[in-house]
Amino acid sequence: MRTVFTTCPLCEAMCGLELTVEGDRVTKVRGDREDEFSKGFLCPKGASLGTLDADPDRLSTPLIKRDGEFREATWEEAFAHVDERLKDFPDRDAVAMYLGNPVVHSLAGGLYAGPLRKALGSRNVFTASTVDQMPKHVQVGHMFGGIFSIPVPDIDRTDFMLVLGADPFSSNGSLWTVPDAPGRFKALQKRGGSFVVVDPRRSRTAQAADQHVVIRPGTDVFLLLALIHELFAQDLVNLRDLAAHVTDHSVIREHVEPFGPDAVADRTGIDAGTIRALARRLAQAERAVVYGRIGTTTVEFGTVASWAVDTLNVLTGNLDRPGGAMWPLPAHSRRGSGTGKGFAIGRWHSRVQWHPEVMGEFPAVTMVDEIETPGEGQVRALFTVGGNPALSLPNSARVNDALSSLDFMVSVDPYLNETTRHADVILPTPPPSRRDHYDIAFLNNSVRNVAKYSRAAIPLEEGRVDETEIFFRLATIFSGLGPKADLDAIAAFQLADLKKKAGADFEPEGETREERLLDLKLRTGAYGVTLRQLLDNPHGIDLGPLTPRLPEILRTPSGKIELTPQPIVDDLPRVLEALRTPETGMVLVGRRHLRTNNSWMHNVPALVKGKPLCTLLVNPGDAGRIGLTDGATAQVTSRIGKVEVLVEVTADIAPGVVSMPHGWGHDQPGTRLTVAGEHAGVNVNLLTDDLRIDPLSGTAVLNGTRVQVVPA
Ligand code: SF4
Repeated sequence: MRTVFTTCPLCEAMCGLELTVEGDRVTKVRGDREDEFSKGFLCPKGASLGTLDADPDRLSTPLIKRDGEFREATWEEAFAHVDERLKDFPDRDAVAMYLGNPVVHSLAGGLYAGPLRKALGSRNVFTASTVDQMPKHVQVGHMFGGIFSIPVPDIDRTDFMLVLGADPFSSNGSLWTVPDAPGRFKALQKRGGSFVVVDPRRSRTAQAADQHVVIRPGTDVFLLLALIHELFAQDLVNLRDLAAHVTDHSVIREHVEPFGPDAVADRTGIDAGTIRALARRLAQAERAVVYGRIGTTTVEFGTVASWAVDTLNVLTGNLDRPGGAMWPLPAHSRRGSGTGKGFAIGRWHSRVQWHPEVMGEFPAVTMVDEIETPGEGQVRALFTVGGNPALSLPNSARVNDALSSLDFMVSVDPYLNETTRHADVILPTPPPSRRDHYDIAFLNNSVRNVAKYSRAAIPLEEGRVDETEIFFRLATIFSGLGPKADLDAIAAFQLADLKKKAGADFEPEGETREERLLDLKLRTGAYGVTLRQLLDNPHGIDLGPLTPRLPEILRTPSGKIELTPQPIVDDLPRVLEALRTPETGMVLVGRRHLRTNNSWMHNVPALVKGKPLCTLLVNPGDAGRIGLTDGATAQVTSRIGKVEVLVEVTADIAPGVVSMPHGWGHDQPGTRLTVAGEHAGVNVNLLTDDLRIDPLSGTAVLNGTRVQVVPA
């Protein structure tokens, strides 16, 4: 029996775990009380890591589909098969790649997903970002010059927080790494501060808030613009130390002129007095921060709403200031120079819908267009890595048809699920306990600067291939080097190249390729930490609270924060037109639950037991009018499709709004998800509309789908 300290890879919160390992099994999971960051916090998902790890449905051997049946294969056979079949697609754009959310939860994904994309050389790259957070990347790209320069709420030092479209009590942060978010919000209240939640649903976070402001889904952008309007109207703008770092802020006043509180009250469902009071509260708090998440990004004006969030942080002088919105500085990153090339989209366009490329990818919703539409460059082969687009993309019925029509598909995934059932080859990644861990992605969103690395708690079984090798083998196949290339030589070449670029005059240390690459990044990073130091500190190293980073964080050509980027300004007339278009009828929104994260964990009994989680929340008034009762089945219809779903009548959802969580619908044939199949739920994306996107970022509109609800 051994005790191993590691980091939970199941969501963004990076909680430290204390694992008890017996033989090759994780038999107990506790929050690591000595963890420098999470201090022992653990949620039900993390507590289930042992069960998830040992899930009997998890694949351990590659599968190759022959004559419609999956058969086990050796790794050599699987890679050779991929290499052979790829030769049928000489046009590289005919081969697409879809990268799912799990990619950023693994060290191998963080280090090698980029090179893998590059090696493929196709313009048809799609990721889960455009069904989630792409508006935020685009907005910070335009304002600060860097697509990952996302400021996060410094919750531990703030006095007032305004939260829109997020439920951190359930998520523990999203684009914001904040373990024990509930504890931190409660500490904020205890020290005399307060927080307000804007949401059409009385979420767990809204229940704990000092004020819950109920909003009509999809209208956060109007509220945010009205708040900016009020800062000017009430003479509350105060840039504090930011004045030297921003372009002319006074021009914003003119842009938000049509969006006064009286103008937006009807559309948002929030009276003008409440909006004015909220603006005063935000401006008058000594330290305040605005945070917007999924309800502000997976909507029609996601990029403008995201811009408005950080513009409020600027106009109240709370950007880059303790207690405001601040930029973390991970140990593997270097400080910037304060200027750069800036950010632009549209270096190339998609073949069918002419969508501009954003961050080198096309909107996930258009992947289906590229598969279905004949002609030169038509996508006929697909590689999915860690995603489940069959469930997570809008208009799922169409997505499933498209996937089943492909000539060749490869999935890097540990499960035979709704997506991978369409694959010809499945390459399974090892379970969490068999992976080394360092958070390349989420340290960029962390509420405190920390560093932690842990080696796999349990060694990989003989003959298993780790995730890094899967990525490397696929990259060598894509590059024409074949499935048997000398990976050590390639890794050494890559490391030498990176060493030269970083000006490093030392030999990076480590037992594996990724350890040596990580050591190089750490030692040339902002703190000069070494891999050895991280290995010697299994509970992590605390690098202190977030500190101001202006101006070095900026990558804009002007060396300033661009307060009025042209693409945002150009989109405002569209926002105004929407404001003036009355909207009625029932709309559908999503929701998050503490025990789930997308579709990942529905095969773990402890996480799906008890009361069904996939229900349609209906307000009592609406239920009475429609003739629905608690526990009944409703039929929900949208422009796209129709589903039947269990009803939960609750005053926690606003009148005129219904809510369904995403990631469900595990009733598809040909999968191997025993527990999830017994708790199948209903796929909300059979209702969401693939024609609705935020055009500035290509992000799908998943919140605010117009629906009709009747008894089934
Ligand atoms: S909050 Fe996230 S990181 Fe923490 S234990 Fe739960 S799933 Fe793991």
